[in-house]
Amino acid sequence: MMLDCIFPFIKQDVMNRRDVVLLCYIRKARRVFSYHERPEEIGIDRIKIAIEQEHRDDGAMFISVYINGSNMPEILDVEAFFAIKQQNGLVPLFTCGCGDFDCGGYYVNVSCTDTALVLHNSYHRFNRTLQSQFEYHLDWQEVRGVAEEILVYLQEIHKRNPQAYVTTGHGGENLLNRVPDYLESSILVIP
Ligand SMILES: [Zn+2]
Repeated sequence: MMLDCIFPFIKQDVMNRRDVVLLCYIRKARRVFSYHERPEEIGIDRIKIAIEQEHRDDGAMFISVYINGSNMPEILDVEAFFAIKQQNGLVPLFTCGCGDFDCGGYYVNVSCTDTALVLHNSYHRFNRTLQSQFEYHLDWQEVRGVAEEILVYLQEIHKRNPQAYVTTGHGGENLLNRVPDYLESSILVIP
């Protein structure tokens, strides 16, 4: 249909120019089709995090997630994030700042491809009904980068304050005790 749109503007006697224009449109169309067939290979969605700590070197930690510059509601559940490769399906990936998933968390439909971590829609914490629609394809290199950023942050707290008790939001177990397991996490292994 794009071709129909442009043909009236092309003089029929200028064959070369018409052929060039036609080729451009075929190339563009191919790109569009390949995007829809294999979106996981595009890897265009960008993830970034911001880490905040209630008290320096101790206590509640809040990790905000930004995808393509937009802030995902609530905070990242660190434990769920490091286990993400083992849990396809609905993952309680974001939790309330108080640390209680039942208070304001939500599920994200997660799947893993060879090239990307796919986040598809959010679902209500109680009845798992659709909450908001999105589809993000995150490059594994970037996801691993986020995991490493969190690990380095936790390790540095531990270095400065070995007695620290650091939690996702205001609740839960001490994340510093989980670091040895996180270091073994398959999220750090790029396929
Ligand atoms: Zn809360």
